[in-house]
Amino acid sequence: MQNEKAKHHAQPPRQSRFCYFLARIVTGFVARFIFKRRFIRNELRGKRGPIVVIANHQAAYDFVNLFGATSRRMHFVISESFYNTLPIKKFLSRLGVIAKQQFQTTIKDIHLMKSVTAAGGILVIYPAGLMCEDGLSTPIPAATYQFLQWLGVPVYMARTSGTYFAMPKWADGLRSGRTYMDIFRLFSAEELREATLDEIKERTDAAMLFDAYREQEELLVEYKNGGNIEGLENVLYVCPHCRSEHTVRVRDGNIIYCEHCGYAEESDKYGFLHKISECGEEIRYVSDWSRMIYDMVRKEAVEGHLDELYTDAEIQMIDGRCCKFVPVGHARVGVDREHFHIDGVLRGEDFSLSVSTANFASLPFSPGRYFEIQHGADIFRCLPTSSDTVMKLANLVKVFYELRAEAPVGE
Ligand SMILES: [Zn+2]
Repeated sequence: MQNEKAKHHAQPPRQSRFCYFLARIVTGFVARFIFKRRFIRNELRGKRGPIVVIANHQAAYDFVNLFGATSRRMHFVISESFYNTLPIKKFLSRLGVIAKQQFQTTIKDIHLMKSVTAAGGILVIYPAGLMCEDGLSTPIPAATYQFLQWLGVPVYMARTSGTYFAMPKWADGLRSGRTYMDIFRLFSAEELREATLDEIKERTDAAMLFDAYREQEELLVEYKNGGNIEGLENVLYVCPHCRSEHTVRVRDGNIIYCEHCGYAEESDKYGFLHKISECGEEIRYVSDWSRMIYDMVRKEAVEGHLDELYTDAEIQMIDGRCCKFVPVGHARVGVDREHFHIDGVLRGEDFSLSVSTANFASLPFSPGRYFEIQHGADIFRCLPTSSDTVMKLANLVKVFYELRAEAPVGE
């Protein structure tokens, strides 16, 4: 029934042949000269009929490596915040992208996505919603598996590796070097129909999850400026030795150390860390250090010592005219186990908002800079006065989601 309805009422977003052609040239250039993409497999080539491509998300420009994988035009689902703040919004809309809030899916979004496969097209989604900040994949929202089954068309996996190092979320700019793209069929339409949700989850997760540092151990790719870890202190904000928070700094571009106890590690050209202080144990992978911090936050939450986190922040919202986030006021913002809260003065008026955290597996953020709270079509970009808070808050949102998912039903 629902399928039929979607088929008859929704049309896939229109695509301009010319704009798509231009985008193919630009992305082809970046894929070749900056990401130096190499295909491991490309099973998408030459395939006809409706297809959904799911892709892992290591860096903001991952789509570049996928764009030229087939001569057919694809419809990418991208983040609304990203879409609304790009100066090329009109151009993007002519590529037929579907812009949606990262952790909310409206009925309209679902119909638009369905319209693409119903019309025999290729739909590309990034189920994790967020690129990773530490080389570890972010959790996949539970609704994904059911959605794939409901679409009922062949699913291809586009697995990228190396782009995390070519464009770390905690650093500015691009670092050219070899990246890889492996595209393979994950489910045929028939397999999808017959699989249980658990089976879909198992196979999807196995294809989607990654640890960029362990991959790098195999690949050993040198990226331009690859040893520079300035900005990483915003992600690794807890000292692994003395466990002090917000005492971690970077000096000389490649040494990360704790101001409190002197624990220090040096990054090599591959991004691996080597201990140079007397004290502490060596942690080779940034992903392991980050995971340790996450586990600490989780333990505090489980034991009930960490039920909420608040900070004062400047609030910015998108100005539709200039396609930019602009300051609209100040507020006390934060999260508890059930809600995000924003209380302050926006656009000269008292403002108070609570948003359920139920669907938020994670939160859009930039380490050491800002995080974003979504409410319907509104995006509140929060820039804390103490920028240290960003990463801890992002971790806590993930922890709360994980704990809710684990809780027995009815509790
Ligand atoms: Zn320390």
